[in-house]
Amino acid sequence: MAIEDDVVVIGGGIAGMSAALSAAREGAQVRLLSHKESTLRHASGLVDVLGYTDADGLVPNPFDAISGLPDEHPYRIVGEDGVRDGLDLFDSVADYEGAHTDRNALVPTFGGKIKPTARYPPATAAGLASDGRDTLLVGFETVVDFDAPLASEALSADVPFDVHGATVAFPGDFRTDARITRLAHALDENERIEESRDGVSASLPIRTALADAVEPHLDGAERVGFPALLGEERTEEVIASLESELDAAVFEVPMGPPSIPGMRLETAFHEALVEADVRTTSGNPVVDFETDDDDDIEAVVVERNGAAIPFHGDQFVLATGGLVGKGIDSTRERVSEPIFDCYIPAPDDRYDWSDEEAFGDHAFPRFGVDVDDELRPLDSAGEPEFGNLRAAGGVLGGYDFAAEKSGSGVSLSTGVVAGRLAGEQVNVNP
Ligand SMILES: Cc1cc2nc3c(=O)[nH]c(=O)nc-3n(C[C@H](O)[C@H](O)[C@H](O)COP(=O)(O)OP(=O)(O)OC[C@H]3O[C@@H](n4cnc5c(N)ncnc54)[C@H](O)[C@@H]3O)c2cc1C
Repeated sequence: MAIEDDVVVIGGGIAGMSAALSAAREGAQVRLLSHKESTLRHASGLVDVLGYTDADGLVPNPFDAISGLPDEHPYRIVGEDGVRDGLDLFDSVADYEGAHTDRNALVPTFGGKIKPTARYPPATAAGLASDGRDTLLVGFETVVDFDAPLASEALSADVPFDVHGATVAFPGDFRTDARITRLAHALDENERIEESRDGVSASLPIRTALADAVEPHLDGAERVGFPALLGEERTEEVIASLESELDAAVFEVPMGPPSIPGMRLETAFHEALVEADVRTTSGNPVVDFETDDDDDIEAVVVERNGAAIPFHGDQFVLATGGLVGKGIDSTRERVSEPIFDCYIPAPDDRYDWSDEEAFGDHAFPRFGVDVDDELRPLDSAGEPEFGNLRAAGGVLGGYDFAAEKSGSGVSLSTGVVAGRLAGEQVNVNP
């Protein structure tokens, strides 16, 4: 029997999940096809909308800067309303902070920089750079990505409050290469550990042992920042325990991969998808597609153990990510979009893809599909590739998410608009 849905979304990242939710909320029956895990597990878990532009540098309020972006930027296509709709959908899914203002919050990063972001997890809230409380950053000997003394030194240069750093041993007898999810789990469960004090062995809860290890380094700090591993599921409880033991505010500093805040966010989106009755099929790639007599897409084909399985739909959303997510591919000769072979504009001369300077103005991060005002990918003549295909997120061209700090914002806003338009089309042609 043929598998048939109203809207088929390809890609399980923040763009695809937003598109699927948005279409489902229009009343469509939605199928989400995803090959692998999304980049959320690598990302900080912060939701950036727009942190920097070429014209203005640091952006205090993203909504003031949208009209100054180049015409081809995804935010110019979905408009301010699209960006707000993306954030509204996000706020309906995740319990984050930042919705009280349009202005960016300034969050310290594990490298000791300050990052402008639109939404941040509650566990990060006490760490904002706009809060003037003196700060202690704590790293762990075995979590080498976060060098707290180095990060605090870098941060000190940019903030008006006192910040110092300390590295302590993570309490307990964990392997030196223990995954951070294992450490987070131990804090979630408040596991009991054995510690030797004055030659006497004692068993105590790990949260207490951690506070004991940190307390001698406080030196007047009113808040303490840890790498983002303070529990995977009971973070609020872990933070409350540490705060009461340390008599100081406690916060998480967002980390690189694997990102526990990114995983928590993924879980929140998955729960919302289940609630919205989105059918999710993951683990295998979409490799091909079929068209009808009008050259519209009729089905996409998933490869599973050598078998080709078609998923039929009325409307399709391409949300396969950029160069990192495998939504865009490149060889020495050309840049391509692997499923539908949508046109990707790129300079003929490969030397023009990047700048000679490592931190120069490279062209390749902006590679992606061009779209019309309904987010339909355009061919080289500027015509929609297919009447019923829309694109969202990292697969879009015209923006550099890493330089602008706009990754999640573009994915949310274009995902919501693409999903809504797809869902509306289904309602028009039921
Ligand atoms: C290292 C890193 C750090 C980041 N940090 C931040 C940050 O701090 N703040 C922020 O706002 N954003 C950040 N981002 C950006 C953000 O996480 C997303 O990468 C971006 O929003 C793009 O999301 P997406 O959903 O379009 O694509 P992706 O997250 O790349 O997801 C693409 C999905 O499509 C699937 N897919 C691809 N090809 C196929 C196929 N053929 N068939 C089926 N499925 C397929 C993939 O398996 C994946 O599930 C970061 C990204 C990276 C890589």
